[in-house]
Amino acid sequence: MKAKIGLEIHEQLMTRRKLCCDCPTNYRDVPPNTNICPVCTGMPGAKPAPPNERAVDAVIEIALMLGCKVVTGETIYIQRKHYDYPDLPSGYQRTSLPIAVNGELDGVRIREVHLEEDPGKYDPALGIVDYNRSGIPLVEIVTEPDMHSAEAVRKFLRTLMKVLEYSEKVRPEPGTMRVDANISLEGGRRVEIKNINSVKGVYRAIKFEELRQKSLLRRGKTVKRETRAFLESQMITVPMRMKEIAEDYRHIPDPDIFPLVIDRKRVESIKSKMHEPPHLRQKRLVEEFGIEQSLASVMVSERKLADLFERVGRKVDPRFTALWFKDRLKKVLNYMGLRASDLKVSPEQMEKLLQMVKRKELTPEQGELVLRELVKNPMDPEKLTRRM
Ligand code: ADP
Ligand code: MG
Ligand code: ZN
Repeated sequence: MKAKIGLEIHEQLMTRRKLCCDCPTNYRDVPPNTNICPVCTGMPGAKPAPPNERAVDAVIEIALMLGCKVVTGETIYIQRKHYDYPDLPSGYQRTSLPIAVNGELDGVRIREVHLEEDPGKYDPALGIVDYNRSGIPLVEIVTEPDMHSAEAVRKFLRTLMKVLEYSEKVRPEPGTMRVDANISLEGGRRVEIKNINSVKGVYRAIKFEELRQKSLLRRGKTVKRETRAFLESQMITVPMRMKEIAEDYRHIPDPDIFPLVIDRKRVESIKSKMHEPPHLRQKRLVEEFGIEQSLASVMVSERKLADLFERVGRKVDPRFTALWFKDRLKKVLNYMGLRASDLKVSPEQMEKLLQMVKRKELTPEQGELVLRELVKNPMDPEKLTRRM
């Protein structure tokens, strides 16, 4: 029984202002219900501003990094998607028609990319709502059902998160991703598991759901088309209560918001400035520097590491550089709890150090000790070794 799995992934965009009002988006740093106004709390008669241009640009850039075709020269309506839940005071969530379509990542087709608004945060146990999050722009990425196992989903999501991280357009703090996973088995109907907020959660939810559906089908029963929730604490999925699911969202274009029209020049300008996505960069490093896939994959694991590799690898032997980065630099960074982006060492200093190791003026172990010092206190490695 082969599984078919498709995902809808939501991430918060890193804009300073919300989508249709001027409220700030730093909702984690402020007391509940302080970053709010009549627009983002859905007061009757409130007049939303046109969608935040930076959010639109961010969605375009992310879509381009995913190889999508941006919809240009056409009216893209911002729709109202209706449902009733305490986190949604207006009774509808704003969600755009596709801004881009037909991309591909890791062998998975990307069906479309949208712009959406986050709802507030409801705590059902306490009955309290915090609207600080309400109106924060989200990107929604919808895949085709091209994945066939929980493992494949996990791999795809990790690759996708790396692309989003490279774009620098989504919030860096963990736990902002929300995924709806759709899964069907041959001979069964599709089940949607809503609102899972980690890669691990998605993996476990799919594992559970695969087993549940398999055992139903084996016993000659049917799999119902339904929406389920994943209970992280028990690692099971359960049917969602009916009132939590809108059977009919009654999509209509939001009459308060002028629709988007994206012109080709805007897309070209974003394309010319955008970051090279990691999966393509990895390919390029293999071709340009002649290093193995596995090494290239370590180099692109962080953008700043890849940047440094490209500078140093051009001067020193690239394979030697890549191996050194993988075995020594990564180790030192891990040990010190740092990321490559925290490094203050200049490419010239790094190059000099690697030349010294390569000429065997330093053993690799000595080189690593020097590197540790350099990370703490960037300076000329030759001067440093004279002192050591
Ligand atoms: P809806 O209109 O209910 O949102 P869509 O057709 O837009 O449904 O698909 C939503 C998600 O469900 C997509 O990610 C898609 O890949 C996935 N999906 C569609 N058909 C199947 C299927 N037969 N099995 C698993 N996932 C599916
Ligand atoms: Mg959908
Ligand atoms: Zn507001």
